[in-house]
Amino acid sequence: MDFSKQSSFEYLSHPDSSSLSPEDLQLLQEARTVTAQAYAPYSKFNVGAAILLENGALVRGTNQENASFPAGICAERVALSASSSLHPGVAVNTIAVSYHNLNGSSDAPISPCGICRQTLSEYENRQQQPIRLILSGQTGKVFIIQTARHLLPMVFSAEDMK
Ligand SMILES: [Zn+2]
Repeated sequence: MDFSKQSSFEYLSHPDSSSLSPEDLQLLQEARTVTAQAYAPYSKFNVGAAILLENGALVRGTNQENASFPAGICAERVALSASSSLHPGVAVNTIAVSYHNLNGSSDAPISPCGICRQTLSEYENRQQQPIRLILSGQTGKVFIIQTARHLLPMVFSAEDMK
């Protein structure tokens, strides 16, 4: 008997931002630009997130580090919390994530950390709509992922507590 299972997903990989739609390009540029507002004196790894809400509003977030390291919070969760607080009940359409590595290069996409994937999943469940992701550095490839769920197979959710 074969007990093996597989999990995989498709995503788009653009060689650079020139082939993006105008709307996606604008959101990515917001994420790239807002990295300048990050507070990351310890890692020197400035991350920026820009969220496009269903009502057309734009909400930005950056990573906020702390001398007590675990107190720091990622740009994605800052932006999600701000969106939910400023625009309650309005669904998140797309989140763009970029970074500026002050110690190295910033030309490859990064993807959200585990806690942020869990958080994105909770927001998707709340709004019952997928959240698209646009991932890129300051330059170079751009990944587009159709739903945050793809980044966290077998996610733990409220369903599991029933
Ligand atoms: Zn994170």
